[in-house]
Amino acid sequence: MSVDVVQLAQQLVAIPSVNPMGQARTGPEFLEGRMTQFLEELFRTWGVEHFRQEVEPGRENIVAWVPGDPQPAPVLLYEVHQDTVPVDGMTIPPWGAQVREGRLYGRGAADVKGTMAAMLSALHQTHTQRPSPRPTLVVACTVNEEFGYTGAQKLCHLWQQRREPFSAAPQACVVAEPTQLHVVVAHKGALRWKCIVHGKAAHTCNPDLGRNAIFAMAPVLLALERYHREVLRQRPPHRWCGRPSLSVGIIQGGVAVNTVPDRCEIQVDRRLVPGETAQQALDDLLQYLSRQEDVDMEHLEHEHSLFTGDPLEEGPNLPLAQALLQVCRQVVPDRDLAGVSYGTDAAVIAKTGVPCVVFGPGSIDQAHTQDEWISLDQLRQGAEILFRFVQQYCTLTAAGASASG
Ligand SMILES: [Zn+2]
Repeated sequence: MSVDVVQLAQQLVAIPSVNPMGQARTGPEFLEGRMTQFLEELFRTWGVEHFRQEVEPGRENIVAWVPGDPQPAPVLLYEVHQDTVPVDGMTIPPWGAQVREGRLYGRGAADVKGTMAAMLSALHQTHTQRPSPRPTLVVACTVNEEFGYTGAQKLCHLWQQRREPFSAAPQACVVAEPTQLHVVVAHKGALRWKCIVHGKAAHTCNPDLGRNAIFAMAPVLLALERYHREVLRQRPPHRWCGRPSLSVGIIQGGVAVNTVPDRCEIQVDRRLVPGETAQQALDDLLQYLSRQEDVDMEHLEHEHSLFTGDPLEEGPNLPLAQALLQVCRQVVPDRDLAGVSYGTDAAVIAKTGVPCVVFGPGSIDQAHTQDEWISLDQLRQGAEILFRFVQQYCTLTAAGASASG
């Protein structure tokens, strides 16, 4: 008996697993614990091998697998995050999991519980139908994708430590995100940091006794805007991801209108295209700033600790991408390889040498929105493709290997 992927997606959407996004927010809807519990019960009911992997207290990855045949078999990893973004401002019941007019509505429907249901359904079918030859199929449901990728980082330890089912690193990894069933081979990364101007406080009846940090930030802001427009947007676009960019998202400073502010802080978001590293991007910008006459470098400080997410680079993942695309086109003929602007767990996993692509039903345009939804047709197609890929994986990769060898 096969799993009804729509019903399963509804069950997943109905379970809150909100990422507190680095804030001290508590409540029954926060963190992934209920989701992990549900998945554990599901795997137990299905009779599929599984274990939990702690990432931090109360937040655990859960990994399930069906051994390949014949052994030793390559490992195909399906990776999907359990968490969602918060639900503030939503105009639909976030966990209502309502189905109407061919869509499933709710937080996480597109990002990324729809694809999770599709991957779980592929796991269940592999378990019950036992196609042969087949890879060892591992479905890893990780925590904390939306705020720092720590679940995926911890997951990589499993093959670095050779923990079963990873007697070696996976041969291929499909990372779940809503890509409209296109096969994503490259995506942008991001570097976020705080930029602080230090001034000197004084009473504003005699402002020259102080040094106004907000005034001093003004030329920095203008220089950053110029750098985005005149440097980054003039670079040749990356084939899949377009041009790099820079934006300032937060500004804070000052304590009272009659006090010269001694501090002004901004938070900068720099999007990296494949081929760029965070360090290069930062060095380049700092050099640019130091050439601006009106920027006071002496009182300008950069705190680099906010966030770094690498881009996903095309290259080692292309044979995998072509194989998945071939299967994808059996179900939805007009799909193609693609690049996207958002970051994913794939860059983390790819860094360990595992070829990774990003794939899933639903659109990123509906992710994180006030009325998030996923198309049921795409959800069913996604499940079909992900199971067929398991069925055909050994043949396709053997053919790919002999064609390229
Ligand atoms: Zn996501």
